[in-house]
Amino acid sequence: MAVTVLLPDDARARYRACLADYLTSRSERSLYEASLIGQICVEGELGPEEIIAIHAEALESAIGELTPRQVASAGVDGLQFLLEVMIAYGVRYQQYLELRLAEQLRQTEEAERRARQQSEIMATISHELRAPVTVVRGSLDLAVRSLARQQHERVGPLLDAARQALGRLSRMTADLYEASRGEAPELMRGPEDLTTIAAEAVAWAVTPATEKGVTLVSEPGPRSLPILGDGDALVAAITNLLSNAIRYTPAGGQVTLRTGGDGMSAWVEVADTGIGMTPEVQARIFERFYRSPEAKATDATGLGLGLALVQQVVAGHGGEVTVMSVPDSGSTFRVTLPARRHGSVAAVASNEEIPQ
Ligand code: ADP
Repeated sequence: MAVTVLLPDDARARYRACLADYLTSRSERSLYEASLIGQICVEGELGPEEIIAIHAEALESAIGELTPRQVASAGVDGLQFLLEVMIAYGVRYQQYLELRLAEQLRQTEEAERRARQQSEIMATISHELRAPVTVVRGSLDLAVRSLARQQHERVGPLLDAARQALGRLSRMTADLYEASRGEAPELMRGPEDLTTIAAEAVAWAVTPATEKGVTLVSEPGPRSLPILGDGDALVAAITNLLSNAIRYTPAGGQVTLRTGGDGMSAWVEVADTGIGMTPEVQARIFERFYRSPEAKATDATGLGLGLALVQQVVAGHGGEVTVMSVPDSGSTFRVTLPARRHGSVAAVASNEEIPQ
């Protein structure tokens, strides 16, 4: 029941009126009112001593208005009234304490969960950053020793490994920077072709797919899919989807890229035959730093930032990323963007909204 919280003065006046009514009428209604006053005292943070003081004051003022007969029974009736107030007070107070305890517990658990999450994130970040640094240091040490031993043929591959690790380190640092900014990256939009963008991303994916033993297929699509977009940001986003598809697909599997459009929108789809995702995992994949347990078991590396950044870039183009996935069977990510239509280029050139 919703109870109005009264200030002590109001509580006093209400108590006095109600007690006076009870002493003359001894009605159930007055006793019910007494129980409400007891509840209000808890809400108003009045203690039992204050209630007793209010009672004594109210009784004293009520007695002046009573007949001699009513005065004779006022002591007992007054105590009955006070008892009613105190019982309601006690019950309410217990509920109040239980609620407070439950709330405190919830807050503590929430704080612990956040702290755990933070330290997991920090552990992931430092682990991920340390791994390529170790590779660089190890490769360079070996390269120096190889040079000293005149084993020049070993130096090239070692420097290559160091360069690749540095590339990974710089991509991760860039991802972390974007994620920590918390705002959408600045996009340099211009007339682009989604078919060309997708082809660039596929060209990048050939090496990692071959190394992993995953077949990479790029299905023929429309010759051109005009959009207004930031070419570099979109290549990075689609590369990210292809990279995930390869990482989360076991050797022998397949990753397929498809493109399409209908004049209103243009899309690119990355489908894999990999580990797939449960609906619970799918609901969280765009959260920063989220990685499913299955993903961690399949590919130990990863910051859980890629998809958050993909979504940010696509949303910045007025598009959307959707996913369909079946555990142990595969996933399909689709990026849909508004198609470039007549007049769109002029709008971007003059910094207006892109027509949808
Ligand atoms: P990362 O791959 O570094 O963990 P992402 O943000 O790219 O970070 O992906 C977040 C999570 O989404 C992954 O950890 C994984 O659980 C899930 N995920 C993304 N792509 C796929 C995919 N193709 N197949 C299965 N799970 C995926």
